[in-house]
Amino acid sequence: MPFTHDTTTTLASAAALVNSSPRHTVDGSEELPTVAALNDFLAAHDWSYRARRRADVTAVHAFRERLERLWPLPVEALAEEVNGLFREHEAIPELVNHGDFGWHFHATRPGAPLAASMAVEIALAISDLIRLDEAERLRVCAGSDCTGAVIDFSRNRSRRFCDQGCGNRANVAAYRARQSGHDDGPTP
Ligand SMILES: [Zn+2]
Ligand SMILES: [Zn+2]
Repeated sequence: MPFTHDTTTTLASAAALVNSSPRHTVDGSEELPTVAALNDFLAAHDWSYRARRRADVTAVHAFRERLERLWPLPVEALAEEVNGLFREHEAIPELVNHGDFGWHFHATRPGAPLAASMAVEIALAISDLIRLDEAERLRVCAGSDCTGAVIDFSRNRSRRFCDQGCGNRANVAAYRARQSGHDDGPTP
């Protein structure tokens, strides 16, 4: 795998962030409704930043919408969006070494708003994909009625479903279709 640990971790958490919105969760709930819930998410995904106030949650929700829109873009448009994030947040890459990541980039000043710091680090991780000609690993979920985000780090680029249970639902639907004699369900 040609990707660094910070790139894979950051992109996996970016997909999980998109899929945390009420549009994508299994029961239609908001997975990140509070400062505490957002901080749990950040800790679970190895982010060193934390939310401090309600405004951080609102700003992360707004960035999440933007991330969802740029996720499936063709590479030229994707690169333009990434450049837009760098410009908007006046990103200045800085090599840092903390936690379990080893050396990696931060690109906002200490004390910058949480959503800005997340945005530029996700933009840096997407830049890695683009430079390696691997932007197609950002996909939209193939589940019926799902537009969740998928990051496919599988060797044979076979991942099609998001982390909200769509793969299981597709398997169940295919199984039921076979049981009822109509083999027209989705192929698992
Ligand atoms: Zn860091
Ligand atoms: Zn899905």
